[in-house]
Amino acid sequence: MKRRRAASLGALGENEILARIAPGVALPVDVAVGPGDDCAHLRLRGRDWVWTTDALIEGTHFERDWMTPYQLGRRAYLVNASDIAAMAGRPRFALVALSAPADLAGRDVAALQRGISAAAARDGAVIVGGNLSRGRELAVTISLLGEAPRRPPLRSGARAGDGVYVSGALGDAALGVRLLRGDARARGAAVRRFREPPWRVATAQALARTGLITAMIDLSDGLLEDLARVCRASGVGARIDAGALPVSAAVRKHGVSLALAGGEDYELLCAVPPRKQERLASLSRELGCPMTRIGVFSNAIEGVAVDGLRAELPHSFEHFRRGTRG
Ligand SMILES: [Mg+2]
Repeated sequence: MKRRRAASLGALGENEILARIAPGVALPVDVAVGPGDDCAHLRLRGRDWVWTTDALIEGTHFERDWMTPYQLGRRAYLVNASDIAAMAGRPRFALVALSAPADLAGRDVAALQRGISAAAARDGAVIVGGNLSRGRELAVTISLLGEAPRRPPLRSGARAGDGVYVSGALGDAALGVRLLRGDARARGAAVRRFREPPWRVATAQALARTGLITAMIDLSDGLLEDLARVCRASGVGARIDAGALPVSAAVRKHGVSLALAGGEDYELLCAVPPRKQERLASLSRELGCPMTRIGVFSNAIEGVAVDGLRAELPHSFEHFRRGTRG
């Protein structure tokens, strides 16, 4: 029998694959939000939970000489906590699935676990179980469960006229990856920023609690990609200004495409109605977390348009450059 060649994962792309593996059945009533946001939102016996999982895989996300096992453990926790933060949750319980080559030292496994535990302890979260299996590469997969507000901020709440805001600074982690790929002994702020993603759990909770935001997502795959996800979920477009992006001098020097498409930022992106932007500015000062307005959601644009670019984007992101009126 002849078999039809199925499209490969690489050919389909992440968004298409995620759409294909979405469950084809109705979800039970205790699933308030299913696949398609930063976490699943479960409502169990009147209590709200958000639940996510993320993996760091050697050769795909990191090389073993880029950081210590302790730093890898911390990073694996923080990228999961970032998804919980995006839904304004408070991390509580973690399961850790570790796949490790036979030559990995026992003390390295212990250090990795300590890195996860120490980062989790900051949130009052604990490891409650896991699994260790032998694999060709080192891979750390964490599943994190967090307490959530009754109505967690979703990707789908942005409205035309809302400001597009991002926390912290963008592009440094991607620059760190670029430097480490060139030389695993690279040092400096960008490398540190890659090794230790920001901790935005408290900021995200404050943003949601004060009712200042209409939508939120964490920036894991690059500003353009993640903003496009908010736009699709909300049924709006967005216009951003490349000149307004919060970037370090190093990122500016290496090119603003690091901030637009580099990924690995783990900052928050949110939508803020105009009448609340002044209160956001004072909350941002109170929290000691910079929140920068980089553009506006709009009905006049399909997808994401970027103003003020000087031919810096890689070709594959070309389609993000033009906003079409519709
Ligand atoms: Mg996310």
